[in-house]
Amino acid sequence: MLEGTEVRTGIDFFEFRKENPEIAEKIIFTGMIDEYFGYQLGALEYRSVRFETEVLDCENYQGNAVVNYTEREVPYTRIIEHKHFEFGKQEKTVISREYSSEWSVGMEPYYPVNDEKNNALFEEYKKLAEKEENVIFGGRLGDYKYYDMDKVVAAALDRLEEFN
Ligand SMILES: Cc1cc2nc3c(=O)[nH]c(=O)nc-3n(C[C@H](O)[C@H](O)[C@H](O)COP(=O)(O)OP(=O)(O)OC[C@H]3O[C@@H](n4cnc5c(N)ncnc54)[C@H](O)[C@@H]3O)c2cc1C
Repeated sequence: MLEGTEVRTGIDFFEFRKENPEIAEKIIFTGMIDEYFGYQLGALEYRSVRFETEVLDCENYQGNAVVNYTEREVPYTRIIEHKHFEFGKQEKTVISREYSSEWSVGMEPYYPVNDEKNNALFEEYKKLAEKEENVIFGGRLGDYKYYDMDKVVAAALDRLEEFN
């Protein structure tokens, strides 16, 4: 996909664009759509996740890489036991507990809150996006939508068709 394209990582799009406003004929923007428009209509809301990672003195904690915990009494929503992704045989094991947490502007945006209020605000940002002629907005932050990996790849291919 990126063949023949110069790739730079660790660069903030907004900072880069300030210094290089004319660099691209067409932009594919996968960041937060409200941030792109300077939050001029207000900020879209997200849920965040706090990770608590622990090394345990046992070979196997939960027998699987990913287990969801849905009981009301359990404060975390999921435990990742990393070694099971790679069939690790180490004596110890590393687990990460995931706690759903509040989000505020400046934090990592994990899950969009697709309720009526936020979806309506997104629709307003989408109208602004449609007027940006040389920018294609996409991905989970550009579309303000929870996508699994397969869905986001499908959406990217569909978007490409629209612009071809
Ligand atoms: C906590 C969590 C768990 C998940 N678990 C699963 C799972 O188990 N299975 C599954 O199929 N999917 C899972 N997903 C979904 C999966 O991660 C997404 O579908 C996928 O990453 C979306 O790809 P994307 O390109 O839209 O967004 P991203 O992967 O977020 O890529 C967007 C890119 O844009 C960059 N960017 C944003 N703003 C700027 C800026 N201002 N300047 C420069 N770069 C910027 C970001 O750094 C990032 O690299 C999970 C998502 C989350 C949040």
